[in-house]
Parts: sequence; structure tokens; C-alpha cells
Amino acid sequence: MSKTNLYQSAVDGAHKKYRATREGRNADFIPALAKMDPKLFGIALVGVDGKRAKAGDADTQFSIQSISKVFTLACALQAVGDEAVLEMVGADATGQAFNSIMAIEQTKGKEMNAFVNPGAIAATSLIKGKTKAEKWARILGIHEAFAGRKLKVNQEVYKSETDTNERNRAIAVLMHSYKRLYSDPLVTTDLYTRQCSLSVTASDLAVMAATLANGGKNPVTGRQVIDHKYVPRILSVMATAGLYDDSGIWLYRVGLPAKSGVGGGIIAVAPGRFGIAAFSPPVDQAGNSVRAQKAIEHIAAALGANPYNTRPL
Ligand code: GLU
Repeated sequence: MSKTNLYQSAVDGAHKKYRATREGRNADFIPALAKMDPKLFGIALVGVDGKRAKAGDADTQFSIQSISKVFTLACALQAVGDEAVLEMVGADATGQAFNSIMAIEQTKGKEMNAFVNPGAIAATSLIKGKTKAEKWARILGIHEAFAGRKLKVNQEVYKSETDTNERNRAIAVLMHSYKRLYSDPLVTTDLYTRQCSLSVTASDLAVMAATLANGGKNPVTGRQVIDHKYVPRILSVMATAGLYDDSGIWLYRVGLPAKSGVGGGIIAVAPGRFGIAAFSPPVDQAGNSVRAQKAIEHIAAALGANPYNTRPL
């Protein structure tokens, strides 16, 4: 079978198998997310050679939410380098909820990682720019370079989230009080909220994941988006903290670095091979899309993608 056909049959197999799954509930702490059609289900896969496969609602727009943390981390790494990110943000799982205030208190804002909100907002605060507009242009620009197309903020989600994100503002101010935020806390929280509200499709996210699988070079546009030396840093945080409190269970089952968002999207990276993205709004207790997890697990198994699955000589 050609590679394109192999990809397409794995993607179709996952879509068919889980199309009827009805577990999970839309996240409702951001009111606009609660309104999404829970039946939406899309999958996309992009190889490092640019070969593509997709199924279902792969071209439906939804908000990227926490998956944006991956690309803002990439931007922060480009801005200050990997040792500085390790020192200023951290790279350890906190063992606490993604928006935990306790985690900040326990460590005075240290020992975070860029995928829990305190660390993510700290990463956003590292983005360079003299003005808020310049910083936003950089954040938007890196997402667009990874996706290979222009992206827009979903204004309804942005407004809904801005109206209800007191907790993120509190996190930013508390981090600031421990000198673990590197720019104005309220400006930074607004930039962070905007990045979470970017509209993407599963097809976009698969290109973004494939760019990470391909040493930071977008396999569709051919553009080197970030220095390849930062890719293993990003994938390490995805492996240890990509799926909220279920990150360990995910790695145990699937073996691929991944990142999910409460909008229902998940990306996973098979290093050197391909990127996968799946999307369906209903999420489980941990905040991970039920169908997206199952779909990616199915595809990773079908394509033998677990890099830890060694065979004896
Ligand atoms: N914008 C959401 C928040 O910061 C992102 C949640 C998520 O996807 O984890 O609360």
C-alpha cells in the first residue's frame, strides 16, 4: 500500500470506529465552548513528506485553547533560548490541576512548565515586542508559520473567555508577585486569552504537529519555522505534561508526545514520521477530548508509531 493509502486507511479506521462514541461532555467553564455541537469529529494526519489524510469534520474551525501553549513555548524558546526557558518557566510536571493556585504557592512560582497556566502565561510574558501589538504579531505569526496559513481569533470565544477569566488574571498577578512573570500581568493575560481563542481546524493542527515531527520545518510550506534544536525541548514537555492530569496514562498507552485543549482538539507527534490531530468537543474528567484520544491511540497503533516499542535484535 502507498504511504498515502496507509495513512488514509488508519485515519478512516479510527473515524469509523469512534464515530458513534458519545462519552464525555463539552467543557463549560468557557461558556462559548459549551455551545459547540458535540457530534463534531474530525481527524487529520500529515507526514514529514507532506502526504496527507483526513476524515470527518477535519476542516471545521474550533478554538485552539491550550494547544496554543506549544507554539507560544516555541516562540519563547526562540526569544530567550532553552536554558533561559528552563530557568524562567521550568519543565517539570506540577502534579496539580492546570490552573492550580496551590501549585504556585507551593513553589513560589518555580518548577512550572509551559503547559500549566502559570507557566504558559509566564511563557507568553517572554515574547518580545515593545508594544502589545508587536507581541501579538509575534504570537500570531508563529502559529501561522506552523499552520502554513493566516489564522483569526474567534471573537465569540475571546469575549466569552475574557468575561470569565478572573482565575487566569489572578494566576498572572500571583506569578508577578513572585517575580516569575516577565511583562505586565494583565496585558500578558489578555495576549494569552487571545492565543487560546485562535480558530484552527484539525487539518491545520496536523500540519502544525507535522512541523514538530519534521525538525521545525513545515512540510507543506517548506519554511523552517523554528530552530530544530528547540524541537526536543518542546516534545519533552508534551510527553510529560501534554494531557493535563492524565499525561502519564496517555504516554503509557500511546507513547507519543501530545497536547490537548479544552476546545476538544489534541495533537500528537510521531518524531521523524508524522503529526496527527483529532477534534471532538466532549471532554473527559481530565479535560481531554474522549474521541480525539481514542482516534489518535488507534492511528498510532495502526501505524506502529510508538517510539518506545523496541524489538529485540
Ligand atoms: N483558555 C483556557 C484557560 O486558560 C485554556 C484551557 C485549556 O485548553 O486547557 O483556562
